[in-house]
Amino acid sequence: ASPIYGRKSGNNTSVSGAQRCSNVVHEVNRMKEERELRRARQAEQLLEKDALRRQDPGNPNWEVAIMLRQYRATLTFSPLRCLNPHGGAVLQITVCVRKRPMGRREERMKNMDIVTVPTRDSLIVHELRYKVDLTKFLEHHKFRFDYTFDEECSNALVYDHTARPLIRTMFEGGNATCFAYGQTGSGKTHTMGGEFCGKSQDCSSGIYAMAARDVFQEVSRPEYRQIGAKITCSYFEIYGSKVFDLLQSDKPQLRVLEDGRQQVVVVGLKEMPVTKVDDVLGLIELGNKMRTSGQTSANAKSSRSHAVFQMALHLPDSWGPYGKCSFVDLAGNERGADTQSADRQTRIEGAEINKSLLALKECIRALSRQSGHLPFRGSKLTQVLRDSFVGGKKNKTCMIAMISPAMNCVEHTLNTLRYADRVKELVAKDDDCQ
Ligand code: ADP
Ligand code: MG
Repeated sequence: ASPIYGRKSGNNTSVSGAQRCSNVVHEVNRMKEERELRRARQAEQLLEKDALRRQDPGNPNWEVAIMLRQYRATLTFSPLRCLNPHGGAVLQITVCVRKRPMGRREERMKNMDIVTVPTRDSLIVHELRYKVDLTKFLEHHKFRFDYTFDEECSNALVYDHTARPLIRTMFEGGNATCFAYGQTGSGKTHTMGGEFCGKSQDCSSGIYAMAARDVFQEVSRPEYRQIGAKITCSYFEIYGSKVFDLLQSDKPQLRVLEDGRQQVVVVGLKEMPVTKVDDVLGLIELGNKMRTSGQTSANAKSSRSHAVFQMALHLPDSWGPYGKCSFVDLAGNERGADTQSADRQTRIEGAEINKSLLALKECIRALSRQSGHLPFRGSKLTQVLRDSFVGGKKNKTCMIAMISPAMNCVEHTLNTLRYADRVKELVAKDDDCQ
């Protein structure tokens, strides 16, 4: 019986051995096939990448370009394109973002556009990151604001959704304030003061001028004409903790005083009476010239100062202006980081800018909360704009955060968006609580 057993067992062994063997062979073949498939796919991808690289020769960021294209292909775009004819409900605090187009130099240097604006209220920043094995990948930072303007949006469209709804505020006895926030070169002056054609600026295409047009349209209505309502303009600059009048020759320094009723007065500030849009354009031009005079470039010093353009409505027999609109072209927010600079003056200026932008955020927060404590003494900027933050619901504020689309500005862009997000986040939270 034993040989039979032996045979049997031997047979058994050889059958299971053959099976195992065929399983192993099968597995090896499968792995081989998979490997070949993977290699073929990789080769295909390499060819595809190579073709793309050849399409865009000399682009050091061609991998980023591919990743961006692939990501954007998954999105559905419906950006803001049309004006807002009915105005809609005016928020007390509106926070928007405007992305400027790539500059010609940026295009030439193959700097990538890493900001996507898929819809009228959302925005994505694609940040280039590296894995531990140094392969590149994009981190997609998503943000949501009241409005997001892409590079195709005109100043008129931006104005229509930001400052225009606020003009009414001035005629209702409130203070409307519109801030342009962002890094130097992100488009603050382009948006507020008007488009640049080479070195000259077309003042009539900026938010200041568009607002002036709407103010005059309103004030020309019979009810205001009959009572003799008047408009005045002032334009000044806050540099460090000093205030300079941009509408007086030699740009004199002005003192800021606070009276017993906590009213803040800029002593000697020129308030020019204006009766038509051209008067205002003339003043803007004069002020802009004053702001940049003696500077090597338009951004040399002006990026370290806040420019405040104001229009006020005066009704007869009323003490002080009835309502005001203020437009603020803020100092470049990257200057706040100058506190590490080797130059003492630059360090001091950086610290002052930092302080003013933080105080501004706090004041907007206080406005949204309607809280009793207003930290307006935190900086000269918020002190001068005190009226914008007191007075409760009558006052309205809009912040336009300007960003550059360029890959080399990603850090500043994220900083700007996080600052704007903080303002909005708090507004949303407060609204939720009500
Ligand atoms: P900032 O005042 O923030 O320092 P600028 O307004 O001076 O920036 O803009 C920097 C450059 O970018 C200017 O040459 C300007 O013409 C250009 N620019 C800014 N925004 C736009 C835009 N929306 N469309 C076209 N060009 C723009
Ligand atoms: Mg500027």
